[in-house]
Amino acid sequence: NVKLLSNFIHNIIDEDLKEGKYAEGIHTRFPPEPNGYLHIGHAKSICINFGTAQKYSGLCNLRFDDTNPTKEDVEYVDSIQEDVKWLGFTWQDRKFYASDYFDQLYGFAVKLIENGKAYVCDLTADEIRQYRGTLTETGKESPYRNRTVEENLTLFAQMKNGDFADGTRVLRAKIDMSSPNITMRDPVIYRIAHIHHHRTGDKWCIYPMYDFAHPLSDAIENITHSICTLEFEEHRPLYNWLLESLGFDIMTRPKQIEFARLNITNTVMSKRKLRQLVEGKYVSGWDDPRMPTISGFRRRGYTPESIRDFCEQIGVAKSNSLVDVAMLEHCVREDLNEKADRVMAVLKPLKVVITNYPDDQCEYLLADNQPNSDNHRYVPFTKELYIEQTDFMEEAPKKFFRLKPGGEVRLKHGYIIKCTDVIKDDAGNITEIHCTYDPDSKTGGATAGRKIKGTLHWVSAQECLTAQVRLYDYLLREDEDPEKDFIANLNPNSLITIDDCKIEPSVAWAAVGTKYQFLRQGYFCIDKDTQKDHLVFNRIVGLRDSWAK
Ligand code: ATP
Ligand code: MG
Ligand code: MG
Repeated sequence: NVKLLSNFIHNIIDEDLKEGKYAEGIHTRFPPEPNGYLHIGHAKSICINFGTAQKYSGLCNLRFDDTNPTKEDVEYVDSIQEDVKWLGFTWQDRKFYASDYFDQLYGFAVKLIENGKAYVCDLTADEIRQYRGTLTETGKESPYRNRTVEENLTLFAQMKNGDFADGTRVLRAKIDMSSPNITMRDPVIYRIAHIHHHRTGDKWCIYPMYDFAHPLSDAIENITHSICTLEFEEHRPLYNWLLESLGFDIMTRPKQIEFARLNITNTVMSKRKLRQLVEGKYVSGWDDPRMPTISGFRRRGYTPESIRDFCEQIGVAKSNSLVDVAMLEHCVREDLNEKADRVMAVLKPLKVVITNYPDDQCEYLLADNQPNSDNHRYVPFTKELYIEQTDFMEEAPKKFFRLKPGGEVRLKHGYIIKCTDVIKDDAGNITEIHCTYDPDSKTGGATAGRKIKGTLHWVSAQECLTAQVRLYDYLLREDEDPEKDFIANLNPNSLITIDDCKIEPSVAWAAVGTKYQFLRQGYFCIDKDTQKDHLVFNRIVGLRDSWAK
């Protein structure tokens, strides 16, 4: 269930309802173009659109905005559905494709021509751009602007029938070449493109432009509030002009509302650039755990709840801003703190031998899976153990409360041990630590209450599993400098792989996607690369929270 704070979009809807508009109910849509995988910015749009429909007990459509076949593919159609579902939203039977409206859209274009509101233009793309002018100069009318309705109808039908080559003619709306808004200077609404479409095949060789297809698809689906990002603000007059010109009733026709795009520090957020990362093999795929795609976050170990919570917390604003990535990390940490079982894993192992512990003994120590929880597991304790290399120091400063020669630490869920010897190889590298243990110091024992400053995580050397752990850092080193090629800003150390990590055996049968807190280390998730005898973990996020509210 989604928490719904009110926002300016909801205020607009409330006003509309008060004025008696949209008496049939509120109806939104999420309209991805299937030309890539969804990213966290799309998650914001999904939460707003589906969340708004939920709040008003209305409907939300999933609409594939597939009017530009060049970069579109069914792979993306499938991944988008998987991602929306995973985020926790359902469209039920409300899945649509803009390409299903190609006939109707063609009909609307014909109607505009018949009403003298559209014409076939033979200028080249470059000429059209020049004629449309700039912000400081007004546009110039095309010499083809005053073709007769009959001529336009014939030419448009010929365009449709494939009589002309790509780029030779377009259909333009006839609006106002002197408008201060360049969008309104006779925008192109249909272009010729002999390209195969992943749904309509070779039926069409003309395709509607986004600015034409979008408002009309909204109207066809009875959308009431067409929520989009700010860069479409200048397109709103065209959106309204088309609906007006085609006779849609102001009381029921859709209304475009713009909100600020999500931008996050250290994060690449455009499908075009994400595609560049995939195609250039800078990452292993769209679902590489470093990718800000929904599938990347899922694989990394983020929960849908944490992403929805993030989208809720950032709110919906009317001006662009940059959100600190620490806030997203804060959200997943909070969620996993509640949900993830704790286990012990040693990333960089150092062997410890308990010299006064019986050689072949293995005892199972009771360990709670979460603080204050009744769920427990058993962790094996044996004569040989591993601790973290960084938890031992031979020449330790005074405040070092981990293990040092002559010093004592408590092993979590187990005994107090004391370091008696440091064993080194010929080169002087430490190979193992010898310790003695206090047999009465485990829970329930006579000396269990002894105050010891440091508590370490550990695993049994005989009874542990070996795993590969992948540590991730941000893909972008610093905030993207638009002047600089973003590839030059990539962090060369965004993936660090550690082999031979040691982990307690309780995780042996866990499924891919299972999330844990590794005590003192952070949150980790079993990666899909895991195979029999090859356990792979992703670090989702560390324990330390750098998000300042
Ligand atoms: P990109 O530029 O990354 O390719 P897009 O806007 O072209 O994004 P679409 O598939 O057209 O991608 O987006 C579907 C919906 O998601 C649109 O309504 C769009 O406004 C919204 N959306 C895309 N990126 C963001 C973002 N960063 N923040 C919020 N909403 C977004
Ligand atoms: Mg788009
Ligand atoms: Mg795009």
